[in-house]
Amino acid sequence: MATQPVSPLVDVVIRGARTQMPFESCVEQLGSAIQIGIFRPGEKLPAERELAARLNVSRATLREAISALRAAGFVQTTRGRGGGTTVCDQIPSAHFGHETARSRRAEIDDVVIFRSVIEPGAAERAALTDLTPDQAALLEQALNDVSTAESPESYRRADARLHLSIASVCGSEELASACNHLQVKVHHLLAGIPFLERNIEHSDQQHRAIVRAILTKDAVAARQLMQDHCDGTAALLRGLLA
Ligand SMILES: [Zn+2]
Repeated sequence: MATQPVSPLVDVVIRGARTQMPFESCVEQLGSAIQIGIFRPGEKLPAERELAARLNVSRATLREAISALRAAGFVQTTRGRGGGTTVCDQIPSAHFGHETARSRRAEIDDVVIFRSVIEPGAAERAALTDLTPDQAALLEQALNDVSTAESPESYRRADARLHLSIASVCGSEELASACNHLQVKVHHLLAGIPFLERNIEHSDQQHRAIVRAILTKDAVAARQLMQDHCDGTAALLRGLLA
């Protein structure tokens, strides 16, 4: 396996991870670096210690990010002397033509931007709404369904239902319909990336905090928490799909 010198562009792409979501941020940065060829097929990634320092994350977080990239088919790891993590010869998006990659990127941007407008607003609005006991119970049930989902598929469906439930208690059919449309698109994009335990744990905490903020009528927190939650998914999509 050829070992090329690390590209100087690595400093442009690999920077300190955002502290709020170090795992997702690492996946995004490393995935992007591989997709644009800063780390080329067959090239070994820098040593774990060095990479963790560049990204300003713990080595445990870096290892989880690398295992996400491995699950997505971006890198492979060999053990023993001379082993390490190298970029796969064919990374998933390399199978697509240039046009396809560009339209995929546009599709992700389209969904991510639309979502960043709709969902934080819906969470804020839900927190400002005087919920009936049934509506509050709907949110609690949706939250419970996500946290007890037993398979990746049921998790993602329950996740979509929770987001839709939040929009549905605001009292606007247009809003619920926009959110529904959005969930279908997000679901479709998420189907293209692996199910990542670390991201799920993080999402679970965020879901609980969002629902708590809505039920306690803390609109500012509800909006911010939902924004952070959407940013996390956006980072994964951009890192692993774009
Ligand atoms: Zn969610």
